[in-house]
Amino acid sequence: MIPPREKWSTKFNEWFRDVIARAEVYDYRYPVKGVGIWPPYGMKIRNNVISIIKKLLDETGHEEVLFPMLIPEDILRKESEHIRKFEEEVFWVTYGGKRKLERRLALRPTSETAIMEMWKLWIKDHTDLPFRIYQIVNIFRYETKATQPMIRLREVTTFKEAHTAHATMEDAEKQVRTAIEIYKKFFDELCIPYMISRRPEWDKFAGAVYTIAFDTLMPDGRALQIGTVHNLGQNFSRAFEVTYLKPDGTHEYVYTTSYGISERVIAALIGIHGDDHGLVLPYNVAPIQVVIVPIPYKESEEEVFSLCNKVLEALRSIGLRVHLDDRDDVTPGEKFYYWELKGVPLRIEIGPRDVAQKCVTVSRRDTLERIIVKVDEIKEEIPKILEDMRNDMRRRARKWLEEHTFFTQNLEEAVKIIEDRRGVVVTPWCGNTDCGLSIEDNVNGRILGTPLDMDVDVKGMKCIMCNKDAKTVIRISKTY
Ligand SMILES: [Zn+2]
Repeated sequence: MIPPREKWSTKFNEWFRDVIARAEVYDYRYPVKGVGIWPPYGMKIRNNVISIIKKLLDETGHEEVLFPMLIPEDILRKESEHIRKFEEEVFWVTYGGKRKLERRLALRPTSETAIMEMWKLWIKDHTDLPFRIYQIVNIFRYETKATQPMIRLREVTTFKEAHTAHATMEDAEKQVRTAIEIYKKFFDELCIPYMISRRPEWDKFAGAVYTIAFDTLMPDGRALQIGTVHNLGQNFSRAFEVTYLKPDGTHEYVYTTSYGISERVIAALIGIHGDDHGLVLPYNVAPIQVVIVPIPYKESEEEVFSLCNKVLEALRSIGLRVHLDDRDDVTPGEKFYYWELKGVPLRIEIGPRDVAQKCVTVSRRDTLERIIVKVDEIKEEIPKILEDMRNDMRRRARKWLEEHTFFTQNLEEAVKIIEDRRGVVVTPWCGNTDCGLSIEDNVNGRILGTPLDMDVDVKGMKCIMCNKDAKTVIRISKTY
């Protein structure tokens, strides 16, 4: 029995695992812990998501590259903060055949070090800057916490990582803002609501000056990190001696940034929009955007199929991904059930009455609402309904996040909200690290950081923990 949406505060994981398996999005039965497989249907969703981010990066001056998966140990160790944090999580290649390797090779946990090693050779002059690249690759992390399909993996298969180099800190800052804008557009495309927060010092990326993160809220009231943007300053360029020649003839270290998104974005897409019937996909990532289901009766079969084919051709001619389900050993009811599970945005039913009235019956996957559309107007109406559906999905998801965000200046209340998995707490904080860590202990949740997308005047407010003057507000939540 799959838990209905109203039970998701505690049963979301069961629903998620069940739906990704039955809808054939992701297969998590492979006999290595923390790795999974994209079967054909999931792969199509994944590719559609990738093409959105690729377009956004291509349009903003990033160029695609492909770096090796293997990073020699001495290179991975060059930036000391970086390796300190990743040391426990690295998978090592230590043997080649029967021979022990002299130099251990890491499976990339992320690619900053590999890229810096090459930038040392590539970047020479101020005219080489800015330098913007990205790649979509797998990364490996030996997760010791309980692994979870798509969310906590040892092999992340779809890491979209961008890396940039600049002449000044101001340019790097500007790039951080550009990256934030790119990610906002990306998540808006997928109708995924987000919170943008500057991570506290103790939770920034290893080797970064600061980290800005995108989190979303999953139906179980836990925040899921879905994207990060790091300003690395000169930390990596100093360690790797990546310098450029300034116009005045002196050399300076470059300033770098990096930002990435993993397959968690697809987990968010599924979790945030799904319902008791299965997936609900916005049309731009749906492998099939419209499914046509004939409802033939004896003597009307020919007319019904003829109209089905006419509609199929009309919608294909405007570039939609349409499928005609003409299986004759499956009832229309079973077909409805099957395509709802798969999250196909629109279903068009065509029976003898539709033929007689020159109409079709369109059913929206998100609201299950039925709309009658005239056959003559199908090319204009269907794209409109798809766009309406996507706008409604975005609006509903954003509203849900807002309704699950609570401002409080009372510690007990904060503890209660987090404990009951009601969502995100926003509360004043003094800015002191020890105080922050004891907030996390007390509420048994994590500080997501200072909101960058929220205007709160903290004048006169007191820290929720120590009662000193507040410097900022912070978001706190249970997290994945
Ligand atoms: Zn405090």
